[in-house]
Amino acid sequence: MNQVEFDHFPCLLLVSHIETTHLLTCNTYAESFLGLQSIDGSFGINDMLSKASLIFYESYLKPILLSNGMCKEVQLTLLTHTGERVPAVAHITLKEAALYWAIYPAQERDKLYQELVSARENLEAKTEELTRLTRLDPLTSLLNRRALTADLNKIITLIKRKYVPVCLVLIDIDFFKPINDNFGHEYGDEVLIKLAAVLKGVVRESDLVARWGGEEFLLVLYNANVDDAFSYCDRIHEAVRDIDLPDNKHLTVSIGIANVKQEDISDSEVISKNIHVADSALYIAKKSGRNQTQLVS
Ligand code: GH3
Ligand code: MG
Ligand code: MG
Repeated sequence: MNQVEFDHFPCLLLVSHIETTHLLTCNTYAESFLGLQSIDGSFGINDMLSKASLIFYESYLKPILLSNGMCKEVQLTLLTHTGERVPAVAHITLKEAALYWAIYPAQERDKLYQELVSARENLEAKTEELTRLTRLDPLTSLLNRRALTADLNKIITLIKRKYVPVCLVLIDIDFFKPINDNFGHEYGDEVLIKLAAVLKGVVRESDLVARWGGEEFLLVLYNANVDDAFSYCDRIHEAVRDIDLPDNKHLTVSIGIANVKQEDISDSEVISKNIHVADSALYIAKKSGRNQTQLVS
């Protein structure tokens, strides 16, 4: 093949000396890519490789070339004559003291790869956000019933290994239907949002707060005994009183507590049984005049 045919290849073709690293010859594509005026022995392959690629070449590629005579699909970063860094893939063979390089600039492939990476990252972020959203109640942004049940199951598994007291606290707004009826459903929604904020403000990071149903909320107090739970509930009653209603009345809630006993945690029904216990206590709170906390022992 004569020089002209050699120049038709749409890639950089180079020959360099393995020891001196000097460029012996190249095609015109390589000449213009690297900005070479003439090949006078002053240009070496260390002038066309990034620092990292050069270290990679010296410490990894050269020993392989010397022992195997060939390296395939080597990822390099080339430096153009304008100083631009261009990702490239190279095949290199060694014949006597000469290295034959076929180098393919891979900007497009790299761009595509980067696009794929960012598309994947985007998708992961969206999936994470969607997963987060499926756990939340859209009105109050508290955990929904399903998410709380899943998280509570994890807590139960945890305390099976090493018991810590846990209390369930079921909260129901008193006379909520008249609030809706008198001031409108939207106003009722605002009350639910305010109560959610109050509950979030009262508990600790390790506790769970969920909207259990319409105007019912469930707290899981981690590492809290019955006395702790009662003092949390006192704070809730107090904070809820600050939620004013238009007719100079104040919001109140009734609360039922259940404490998850150590002897019950191996029971597969431990969650539903304790929720039932909290519900019975709540029922007693309602029957006893509302705006109070009850525990069935
Ligand atoms: P009690 O003191 O016995 O708990 O009486 P109550 O009026 O609070 O209870 P009831 O169960 O009679 O009514 C609950 C009301 O909650 C009825 C329902 O329309 C309302 N509700 C449920 N979900 C929502 C909601 O998302 N937004 C609004 N605004 N109201 C809701
Ligand atoms: Mg209710
Ligand atoms: Mg109610």
